[in-house]
Amino acid sequence: MRAEFEQLIADRRAELETRLAAVEERLSSIRLARSGATDDDEHDPEGSTLSTEWSRAEGQRTDVGRELADLDAASERVGAGTYGVCAACGNPIPVERLRLLPAARLCVPCASRP
Ligand SMILES: [Zn+2]
Repeated sequence: MRAEFEQLIADRRAELETRLAAVEERLSSIRLARSGATDDDEHDPEGSTLSTEWSRAEGQRTDVGRELADLDAASERVGAGTYGVCAACGNPIPVERLRLLPAARLCVPCASRP
């Protein structure tokens, strides 16, 4: 079980790192395009599209970074032997859920509780 969990976490991490690299690349190409554009963002339709894209890419970078941090915490739980145990009720989290969300800390009933 433990080896499977470690594999799940490693696979997910690899996927996120690929996504992060793509987002970083997107951000640097927007940065380049912006430096070539005029300073007058508000009245330049292209400039405002770039701003929108920039915010979206930054949002994605934040999301991916957060999930990577969650995966680090999940790795620590594997090491501590508490991985796959709901942090709220202490019941085991079904492995199907962990396959979908390797960083999950809560079982489905606890996660859907408001
Ligand atoms: Zn629970």
